Amino acid sequence: MSAPPSRNSVFRGVVALDGPSGTGKSTVARELARRLDAQYLDTGAMYRAVTVAVLRAGVDSDDAPAVAALVGGIEVLVSTDPARPSTRLDGRPVDEEIRSPETTRAVSAVSAVAAVREHLVAQQRSIIGRGATVAEGRDIGSVVWPDAELKVYLTASEAVRARRRAGELGGTDLNTVAAELRRRDDFDSSRAVSPLRRPDGATEVDTSALSIDEVVDLLENLARQSVSVASNG
Ligand code: C5P
Repeated sequence: MSAPPSRNSVFRGVVALDGPSGTGKSTVARELARRLDAQYLDTGAMYRAVTVAVLRAGVDSDDAPAVAALVGGIEVLVSTDPARPSTRLDGRPVDEEIRSPETTRAVSAVSAVAAVREHLVAQQRSIIGRGATVAEGRDIGSVVWPDAELKVYLTASEAVRARRRAGELGGTDLNTVAAELRRRDDFDSSRAVSPLRRPDGATEVDTSALSIDEVVDLLENLARQSVSVASNG
């Protein structure tokens, strides 16, 4: 049996973390990035920021040509510090607005527009190219960074995912949350461009019965096994 990877080893690779909403992806990705001393890239926040711009401009999120025309003229910046994630649109913080119910309702339509994806994927690749990264989204292992050292596809039962999302939102009816999750997942999985799917070579982890810490422990071990360079070597 091989020895477990050392906690002192330096992780220099990329972890691609994909999966539907409510699987614990964001919390897991942030904590994993912190432990690995890596960048944290929340690609969902970038699609949400573009959606804020679309809504502010009064553009219909289903009007793909109008959405495509807008995306070249805006600037989305994300911080990659796992201790302080933040998102800016045209120089201003939009951390609350990107989580609003209006943004959440419109984001799947906006992120199905090919021009939006091209624009953001190019930016995501340039960020990941800077060094060790834990990137989370729907298409990281399949499209954005298929050569990631570790690809993980997180899942959880629909009931568990709805309960987690309702907990985050506070006070929202469970059935409403479940219906909204289903609608967004169906949309994300069935779109023509980069649909949500388990990337080739990804390890599937069902988080239904696991705590966040258990998932992070598991992924940290997998990440260190995938690429580990002894800090003293
Ligand atoms: O991860 P989060 O729930 O914030 O993502 C919001 C939406 O952004 C998803 O429902 C999906 O429509 C879109 N998204 C995407 N590709 C990614 C990340 C997010 O299409 N890599």
